[in-house]
Amino acid sequence: MKILNYGSMNIDRVYSVSHTVRPGETILAGGMTIYCGGKGLNQSIAIAKAGGEIYHAGVLGEDGDILLDSLTRHHVDTRHIRRVTGASSHTVIQVDDQGQNCIIVCPGDNVRVTDADIDDVLSGFVAGDMLVLQNELDNTPSIMRKAAARGLVIVFNPSPVNELLKTYPLDCVRWFLMNEIEGEAITGEAEPMKIINKMAERYPSASVVLTLGAQGAYCSHEGNLYFQTAFKVKAVDTTAAGDTFTGYLVTGLSKGEPMQDILERSALASSITVSRKGAADSIPTWQELER
Ligand code: ADP
Repeated sequence: MKILNYGSMNIDRVYSVSHTVRPGETILAGGMTIYCGGKGLNQSIAIAKAGGEIYHAGVLGEDGDILLDSLTRHHVDTRHIRRVTGASSHTVIQVDDQGQNCIIVCPGDNVRVTDADIDDVLSGFVAGDMLVLQNELDNTPSIMRKAAARGLVIVFNPSPVNELLKTYPLDCVRWFLMNEIEGEAITGEAEPMKIINKMAERYPSASVVLTLGAQGAYCSHEGNLYFQTAFKVKAVDTTAAGDTFTGYLVTGLSKGEPMQDILERSALASSITVSRKGAADSIPTWQELER
């Protein structure tokens, strides 16, 4: 089964500074490193590393070659990425000597996805194929409605949380993948089981995966409740933990594997991710998991 990820792609510019800049101040950076980011890009790479048949769709500006190269290098199919004039989204990240950071996200011309783009991309997919979405593109409701009408299985990660979520046609979603913060934003509940129960009440035909960091994850699917413990590791950097879990879960679902096995692999892969530094680079491949 094919997996389509309609997702964000972002150029992260990380500046080393002695302290983060104060109002009215001008400072010199010690250096700058460019990374590829965006939740969408990270999740596509996670799916590719998990062994899924992944197609990334979206729009890139003139400066987007680095993002396209990164996806291609990780074996993500990029035929549904359209290029536009103008800039891609980027972030300006200051990291000080203590490791504290300040981040500016500057959405580029590439967050705008048109209805014509969506129709064009979806024409390459059929009922039963999976669609992965996050909350970083401006036309997400339209993607959801059109994909649901076509019979795609929509997997939604409501990240980052914002007010717009309340206006989305969430009854189109078949799988919600979220952490506690996202779960609380959607349901107003803080307790994991209350989040799960509220989601089941509101979206009875949807399955829910609620990840709880080092506490593990709950999954409610077809009337069954699963709990997956997290593997005990020394956490070095939790960046991309959730994206890794998403990548392995979606890939397992696309291959029709048993739910308990999918959850265990997703937790194992995420525990490896948190034990190493970095974002997409720290996600393990399925071959590494086998070993
Ligand atoms: P997000 O990055 O979206 O906030 P979580 O922090 O809930 O996601 O983490 C997702 C999954 O990653 C968890 O369910 C768990 O399996 C794994 N994980 C996260 N933090 C740790 C940790 N400190 N040790 C082991 N596994 C972890």
